[in-house]
Amino acid sequence: MLKQIKTILKTAVLIAKTSPWNLPAFIGSRFLEIVQPFVTLFFSAKILDLLTQGADRPQVVQWIIAGSAVTALIHLTGRFFVNLNSVEGMDLFVKLYEEMSAAMMRADYSELENGKMREKYERIVRAANVYWYGPWEVPGVLMNVTEGLTVVISSFALAYPVFVPAEGKDWWQTVLLIALIVGSATYSFFAERKLYQLKEQGLEGQIHDNQVLNYLDQYITADKAAKDVRLYQQQNSIRRFRDTFNQKMRQGVGESRRRKEASNSAIREMFGRLISFAGYLIVGIRAAQGYFSIGDVLLYAGALSRVSEGARMLVYSMQHVAMQAPHCQEFLDFVQIGKKTQKKSEEVSNVKTKTKTKTRTTTSGSAEASVARSTPHEIRFEHVSFSYPGSTKPAVKDINIVIKNGEHLAIVGKNGSGKSTFVKLLCRMYEPQKGHIYLDGKEIRSYSKEEYWKILGVVFQDFALIGLPLAENIAASEEYDENKVRHCLKDTGLEEWVDQLKNGLNEWMSASEGTVPSGGEKQRLALARAQYRDPFLMVLDEPTAALDPVAESKVFQKCREIAGGTSAVYISHRLSACRFTDRILVFDEGSIVQEGSHDELAKQRGSMYAQLWQAQAQYYI
Ligand code: ADP
Repeated sequence: MLKQIKTILKTAVLIAKTSPWNLPAFIGSRFLEIVQPFVTLFFSAKILDLLTQGADRPQVVQWIIAGSAVTALIHLTGRFFVNLNSVEGMDLFVKLYEEMSAAMMRADYSELENGKMREKYERIVRAANVYWYGPWEVPGVLMNVTEGLTVVISSFALAYPVFVPAEGKDWWQTVLLIALIVGSATYSFFAERKLYQLKEQGLEGQIHDNQVLNYLDQYITADKAAKDVRLYQQQNSIRRFRDTFNQKMRQGVGESRRRKEASNSAIREMFGRLISFAGYLIVGIRAAQGYFSIGDVLLYAGALSRVSEGARMLVYSMQHVAMQAPHCQEFLDFVQIGKKTQKKSEEVSNVKTKTKTKTRTTTSGSAEASVARSTPHEIRFEHVSFSYPGSTKPAVKDINIVIKNGEHLAIVGKNGSGKSTFVKLLCRMYEPQKGHIYLDGKEIRSYSKEEYWKILGVVFQDFALIGLPLAENIAASEEYDENKVRHCLKDTGLEEWVDQLKNGLNEWMSASEGTVPSGGEKQRLALARAQYRDPFLMVLDEPTAALDPVAESKVFQKCREIAGGTSAVYISHRLSACRFTDRILVFDEGSIVQEGSHDELAKQRGSMYAQLWQAQAQYYI
């Protein structure tokens, strides 16, 4: 239990950091709401006693004024907290989701590719939306604990004389009351636990079903699938499929949970009534025996009727802590993803900035700035092998190559021969399990990933534009050098296209608010984005697969022009586009089986390259 309390407190700290007013607003509003009836009860009993005891009028009036003033103050403060809470609640909702998106973006590529991150995300969101589990509920948990404690303490404090046997006799009254309260609390404890177990079982089953439904949602809303859905009349099949899953989700554990919930509340109600009844009975007997005044009867009976509710709340709040803690822990683990690596790279870059500042004071600025640019760079793969997690078959094996400064390389091979895996290793999406990759003689692992990525300009086949202004897409940043953006767009042949956009560089790249570029324009934009970062190495991973051969050859030609003295690695299925590179590497089953210029390789009869070339050439002759 201690561990679970700790988790809830850690989550509360995170909430306090992300949305500082949330917890005070939430707990404050509920606390005052709970306290109010006790305060009213206290003043009413006092005034009733003063009246029945024939107290002075001014004294009674004083109590009436004091009671009204305190109640009004509590009410007004309560309203203030309620208003604050409605704003802060929304703020927290959004900010916690933001924390998860940030973690998604920090996560290792491999975690995203194998779907684990998505699964974790799905679990958290599903638990939150269907069962109300997770950090969003922590203000509620803390409030329940506060509420339970407040009600129990206030009702005991007000009604404690009922628990003390009058003149040491009639112990049965005390025993009866305590037995009923303990019985009610014990029942609540076990009943809530059972309910929790049923909810957890339901959640496990639903994670998978929900992923399937989400996939279907994405499918039917994707413009690519719209044609398939219509042409193949998939509507009915999809609807049937969805119905089956929806029904499955509604049935099963959900039903037994609802039955359990109904019986729980009936038994809880019964305990509540019994405690109130016993309370009235005992208070009535003592009043008849002359121990309690009329005011006491009102106060004690009122307070006792809330004891069972308070005890149940306290037990429930403890159960709530136990139930919520694992889900909060899942969330805390999720939002921690990638933080360590980020911190490390920030430390590295801080050190570098400091060193740079120091050097600048001792050496001339221009000499330092040109060092990186003027030094010829070189990337070397040495005996590099890699298998995907869970697979025993290597996707690439024993790769040994050097990409020299300014060299243009093409990588070709059949599907599944390891080309994309080679690019992923080159781009540090994965680390090799065997062998090493060096940049300028230093293992690439000794650079922070962010530092290493700065030297790369990569264009993938499925290049995605974000719904942001054009220039921000090119610069991949909110701040950009306008001249440089224009220069890159000119180099990639997009100058005229930009000129005819209504808002020029500020045109939003989205269908709803701006322009959606064509496939060819998108590829050129991707090239411009790669060029903007002045990379040492351009990597083009099948960037032209969606283009016709003429457009493709233009993009490749453009790339050659832009790359100029920069090194480049091209991957394309169309060998004709690769033939003009300095060197071609032929991949087969994860290994490099041939290496050389197009003319050299095409001459090697019966070789893999010659086969690929022949197979494609016949379509172009
Ligand atoms: P290519 O780009 O030449 O088509 P890949 O590098 O994509 O080839 O694939 C090389 C091998 O690795 C293939 O056997 C492929 O099935 C496997 N592979 C590729 N991606 C993954 C992945 N994410 N998880 C597991 N295996 C993969």
